[in-house]
Amino acid sequence: MFPPPAGPSPLAHPPVYSFGAAGTDGDGSLRSLLGGKGANLAEMMRIGVPVPPGFTITTEVCALHGRDPALAWSLLRPAIDDALARLEEELGRTFGDPAAPLLVSVRSGAPVSMPGMMDTVLNVGLFPAARDALGARAGGTAAGRHFALDCELRLLEMYGSVVLAVPAEVFAAARGAALAAARVEHPQELPAPELAALIAQVRSDLERSLGAPFPDEPRVQLERAIEAVFASWSGARAITYRRLHGISDELGTAVNVQAMVFGNTGEGSATGVCFSRDPATGQPHIYGEYLPDAQGEEVVAGTRTPLPIGRSPDAPSGMSFSERFPEMHRELVAVCRVLELHYGDLQDIEFTVEEGRLFILQTRRGLRSIGAAIRIACDLVDEGHIEPEQAIRQVDPGALDQLLAPVFTPEGRAAATARRITSGLAAGPGGASGRIALDAETAIRLATDGGPVLLVRTETSPEDIAGMAAAAGILTARGGTTSHAAVVARGLGKPCVVGCEGLRIDEQTRRIEAGGQSLAEGELLSIDGGTGEVFAGSIETTDSEVLRVIDGALAPADSPTYRRFSRILSWADERRKIGIRANADTPEDARRARALGAEGIGLCRTEHMFFGKERILAFRRMILATDVAGREEALATLLPWQRMDFRGILRAMDGLPVTIRLLDPPLHEFLPHGDSETQRFAEEAGLPLETVLARIEQTREANPMLGTRGCRLGLLHPEIIAMQTRAIFEAARDARDDGETPRPEVMIPLVVVAEEARRTRGVIDAVAADVFRGTEPVEYHVGTMVEVPRAALAAGRIARDLDFFSFGTNDLTQMTFGFSRDDTASLLRRYLDLGILVDDPFKTLDREGVGELIRTAVERGRAANPKLVVGICGEHGGDPRSIAFFREAGLDYVSASPLRVPTSRLAGCEALGSPGRSDRR
Ligand code: PEP
Ligand code: MG
Repeated sequence: MFPPPAGPSPLAHPPVYSFGAAGTDGDGSLRSLLGGKGANLAEMMRIGVPVPPGFTITTEVCALHGRDPALAWSLLRPAIDDALARLEEELGRTFGDPAAPLLVSVRSGAPVSMPGMMDTVLNVGLFPAARDALGARAGGTAAGRHFALDCELRLLEMYGSVVLAVPAEVFAAARGAALAAARVEHPQELPAPELAALIAQVRSDLERSLGAPFPDEPRVQLERAIEAVFASWSGARAITYRRLHGISDELGTAVNVQAMVFGNTGEGSATGVCFSRDPATGQPHIYGEYLPDAQGEEVVAGTRTPLPIGRSPDAPSGMSFSERFPEMHRELVAVCRVLELHYGDLQDIEFTVEEGRLFILQTRRGLRSIGAAIRIACDLVDEGHIEPEQAIRQVDPGALDQLLAPVFTPEGRAAATARRITSGLAAGPGGASGRIALDAETAIRLATDGGPVLLVRTETSPEDIAGMAAAAGILTARGGTTSHAAVVARGLGKPCVVGCEGLRIDEQTRRIEAGGQSLAEGELLSIDGGTGEVFAGSIETTDSEVLRVIDGALAPADSPTYRRFSRILSWADERRKIGIRANADTPEDARRARALGAEGIGLCRTEHMFFGKERILAFRRMILATDVAGREEALATLLPWQRMDFRGILRAMDGLPVTIRLLDPPLHEFLPHGDSETQRFAEEAGLPLETVLARIEQTREANPMLGTRGCRLGLLHPEIIAMQTRAIFEAARDARDDGETPRPEVMIPLVVVAEEARRTRGVIDAVAADVFRGTEPVEYHVGTMVEVPRAALAAGRIARDLDFFSFGTNDLTQMTFGFSRDDTASLLRRYLDLGILVDDPFKTLDREGVGELIRTAVERGRAANPKLVVGICGEHGGDPRSIAFFREAGLDYVSASPLRVPTSRLAGCEALGSPGRSDRR
C-alpha cells in the first residue's frame, strides 16, 4: 500500500463514507457528494430499513481520479482498508478469506439518476478457492455448490464484459452450446457438473481473448471494478444521456461498494424492482416485477421475463411475489410505505430476498407519467403525508401540456414501432396521423374531403397558416423549435415535428422519402410531437380528457384527471407572483387560454388575421397599391374584419388585458409565390401580371427579417397603423358599450430607437382621440416589443414614451446570437453535440447574453419610467427554466401559447425555486 500523500488533501471531504450497524457516516442530504444511491443508502440505514452494509466512494474522488489517478488512489486505498475492516467486523466475514469470503457489489451512483447509463459489477471478491465456503452459505451442499458456481459464472461474465471489456460474443458461444446440449434456457438450470464445465470453458475463452489470466486476487478485482465505474462516467452512453438531459459533465459519479446479498441461492430467494405506487397510473398499490432465484440486474436487463409483484391477470396464478413470498411481500409493502412517508414521494425500489430475509438495495424518486404525477401528488396531500407546496414540486411543469395533447392510443403506438421511418425535433406535443399533404392548399382540400391531414413541408411560411389550421399535425424537414412552423403549431395546439433532416420532399413527383421508404401525397403518415418520431401509416388518436373538459365536451365532475390538474394549478397560483398571459390570435384561442388560466393576452399577432381567402386578396391589393389613396381603399376593406376579430378576442378576455401587436412581418411574406399563384392573383385582382411582378420585385429584400418590417413598415405607411389601431379602439368602444370591460394594449413591433416609439405612439394616440371623440375614452396602453439588442440597451430612452415592454425573446435570441431562428436547427444540433453550446438558446433562455440584455432593459426601463409593465412573449414564456429566470429578473408576466399556459402557471410558482442544469428534479 502507498502511504497517503503528505500535505493538504485535494479533497474537501473524506474519500469514503461507510454505512452499517456500527455507524453511518453520510445521510440523504449528501446527494452531490455520495450520489443519489449512496445518499439514500445512508439515509435508509439511518431510519432502520434493512440495507446490506457497505461504503460509498465520493464523487470528489471520481473527479480527482479523472485528473490524477495516482493521487486519487493514494488517498482512496487507506480509506478502503478502513471501510472494509468495518464491514468485515460487522459481517464476520473477510474480503479475500477463502474460509469465510466477503463478496461485494460495486455500483455506480451519480448525483442525478442516469438509469442504465453506467456500470455495475456483482460478486466481486470471489475466487475459486473460496467457492466451497460460499456454497456453505446456501445451506444444503448440492444446492450450495450450485449457487456458488452460479455466482462464479456471473462474476466471470459481468466482470469480463464491464471491467475487462471482453466482447459479449466471447461468452456467448460456450453458454449457447451448454444450454443447447442440456436443453435449458438459463445456466441456473444446468446440473452442477455441466455448470462447472461451462465455467471452465468461459474462463479459458476469456483468458484467451484477454491474453492474460482472469484476476482472481480480490483486492485487484475490487480496485479494477471501481476504476471501471469511474470510467463509465465518461463512456459514450453516459455522455449522450447527459447531453440529452442537460446534466453537467462536472458532477462525476460516486461508487457504492456493498456487501452482496444473494437472490440466487435457490427457489427461496428472489430479486426485484418495485414502485411504491403504480408509476403509469398513480394507483396507490405497490407495483413491480421480480424473479425467483435471480440476481441484481436480471429483472431490468430483460434476459428473463419477470413476474409481477402483485396478483395479475397477465401472469399464471400462484406466480406473483405476493403469492410465492407472502411474508416477504408484507414486509416489502411495509418498507415501501416507510420509504414513501420518509421521502414524501413515489419511490422506485430494488430489493433482494435471501432465504427469507428482505434487503433493500436502492431507493430513488420514481419516474412517472404526468397522469400518475398529478394523481400521486394529490393523493399524498389527501393522505396527509405532504403539503401542497411539496405536491407542486413533484409535478414537472414541462410535462403538463402532455395532458392537453391529442393522444395515440397505447395499443396503436405499440403496433407502430416497426413502421418508424425517421425522426426530427419534437416541437409540439401529441400524436397525429393523417394523409400527407405537400402544400397548404392540398391540406385544405384533403381535409375538406374528410379525414385528418398532415401538412408536410420543407419549411412553412405564414401563408401556410390556413393549411396548418386545417391539418392535424405539421412535419417539416427544416426549422428549429422556434421556427415558424413550430411556433404556429404550438399556438394552434397541433402536434409538430420540425428539423427532420432525414426527410426528402419532392414537389415534382409529389412524394416524400425517409428511412428508405417512399410515400406519395395522400398516403398515411403519423408523427409523435412528443418524441419527434415519424411513422408510415396511421395510428389511432383521441382528444385528451382534460381538453375535452376545457372545451366543454366533458363535465369536470366526470374527469378525475382534470380535477387533479386544476388542483395542482390552483396550489401553484397561490404561490405565484408572476402573471401568466397567453399568445392568442383568435377568439377561440383566447377562450381556451382563459379556461386554462391565462390572465390576459400577451401577444396577439395580427398578421395571422390576413390569411383568409378574401382577406389575403384585400391585403395584397393594399401592398400593391402605388399611392396612399389606393392603400387606404384596400385597408378600408380590411378594417371591419380586424374589428370583428378584436371584438371577439376582447369579449373572450373581458376584464383582462389584451396586447395586440401591430403588423410585424415584411410585406413580401404576404405576396403570391410562384408563377401560377401570381398569375391567379393578378387575374383575381384585375391587375396586369407585369404590374404585380414589378411590385413583387420592388418589395424583395436580401434579408427581409432585417428589413422593412415591424414599426418601420408602419412609419413608412402610417395608414396601416391607423387602420389596425382604429379596429382595436372601435372594437374596445363597442365592447364597452356592450357592458364589457375591455383593456386593450397596443404593441409596437421591433422598436430600435426611441424616436420610432414616439412617432408611432403619436399615430396611435391620434386615432384613439378620433375614435373616442365625444364619448368616454376606453383606457388603453401603448408599449413595444423589445427584440433587438439595441432596444434593450436604449431601454431608458425608449421607456419614456411607453407604458409597457414585452420581450420578443425569439427575435432577441436570433439577433443576439446572429443565429437564424428558421434554419439553424442542424447547426445548433451540431453545436450541442460538440458541447459548444449547452442548451438550445431558442428553447431555454440564454442567461449569459440574452438574459443580461433583459436585465439591463428592465433596470433602465424602470429607472426611466417606474410604472413600466414588463413581460415576455417569446416562446421562452412556456419554458420552465426560462420562466425561473424571468421570475428572478422581476418581470410582471410571461406569455405563452394557450396550451403552454398550465406549464407557465406551474413554473411561475415561487415554490419551485430555480432549477439549474444539474439540479433536475
Ligand atoms: C419574438 O420575436 O419573440 C416574438 C414573440 O415575435 P414573433 O415570434 O412573432 O417574431
Ligand atoms: Mg419577433
